[in-house]
Amino acid sequence: MGRSFYVHIPFCERKCPYCDFYSVADRSDAASYIDALIQEIRAFSDSGVRFDDITDLPDTLYIGGGTPSCIPAEDIARIVSSIRDLFGLRGDAEITTEVNPSSLTPDKALIYKECGINRVSMGVQSLDDQVLKTLGRLHDSEGARRAIDILKKAGFDNISCDLMSGIPGQTVSSAEESARELTELGIKHVSCYSLSIEEGTLFEQRYKDNIEDLIPPEEEREMYHRVRALLAAKGLARYEISNNSVGGYESRHNLNYWAGGNYYAFGAAAAGYLQNMRFIHPASVAGYIDCARQVTPEELKEYFDSKKDGSDLLTTTDIMTEEEKIKEYPFLALRTAMGMSRKEFSARYQKTIEAVFGDAVRKNIEEGLLVSEGDRIFLSDRGFDLADKVIRDMIW
Ligand code: SF4
Repeated sequence: MGRSFYVHIPFCERKCPYCDFYSVADRSDAASYIDALIQEIRAFSDSGVRFDDITDLPDTLYIGGGTPSCIPAEDIARIVSSIRDLFGLRGDAEITTEVNPSSLTPDKALIYKECGINRVSMGVQSLDDQVLKTLGRLHDSEGARRAIDILKKAGFDNISCDLMSGIPGQTVSSAEESARELTELGIKHVSCYSLSIEEGTLFEQRYKDNIEDLIPPEEEREMYHRVRALLAAKGLARYEISNNSVGGYESRHNLNYWAGGNYYAFGAAAAGYLQNMRFIHPASVAGYIDCARQVTPEELKEYFDSKKDGSDLLTTTDIMTEEEKIKEYPFLALRTAMGMSRKEFSARYQKTIEAVFGDAVRKNIEEGLLVSEGDRIFLSDRGFDLADKVIRDMIW
């Protein structure tokens, strides 16, 4: 695993009615926020705290949100150059930023390209105007096509688009048509998500007494399957529960998460994993700015060395024991098409997969949900649909 960095930009042009991520529409603090982020990046670099398990794989940097494209592109470029300069990012690093069609402009795309960003992930969701309206998105289908064109003209080849299924009023053919058009536009990576109604969102209020307006689960599953099958037929293979790509265009950043790799995270509500500690930053723009402005390299070093909550900036959510890491292995590895590797597991934990998970593996192979082939144990097509159940069997 290489070194991975995540940076959270918690600003959006407007809050989407279905979204429960930490993001705010008020951008008045954006400039101070970026200054605070750079301070945290510098403090982390100066602290001497390092990644546990670096191999010869490329570094990754992922700027997510929120909507990174709704703040000045120069600020995104500042973040990239700070991390590059302070950590000496490798020349072949994968550097991704998320964008939304409504805030992407040709000038911003050019600045992204010039600062070294080489992958863009865009929240398209659908190319059906009625569906986009239901979702309360700020762009229409023409805006999404225009944004893809802007990225291509700026020289981006590695573009990922998000698609959603199960949106009230969406049909199977509308979902398929959106996926088909993306492939025809040359998109090489698509992330597919099903709408879920989250607590505290406007969608929860809208649909709690109107459940009949929601797509029935069987129809939603069919939509999801047909989209995934269409993507695969067009050369974008499923390499993870929610992700399809042309070979070589998989997200290296996310592959590192699923391999249980370390990653540092900067910014409000950003969660990281380093030196066996899972930690999170304050989920408040003002609270984050306050803490990040004051954090010192010594405080960060002390936090990671002592493994105690002693930092205002970072709160420990878990200290991973060997047993927890072993349990987490199938949880992460089975998300991917490669699944679990017997060799990798034994090398890491000096135990065999069979010794730890033998009963659950055998049972799920018998039920046709897992496949064992040489070194690998992975989910079958049906197993992908019931991944939660298989993983539950392995963990408990
Ligand atoms: S743009 Fe994305 S992060 Fe922002 S509110 Fe909408 S769904 Fe949430």
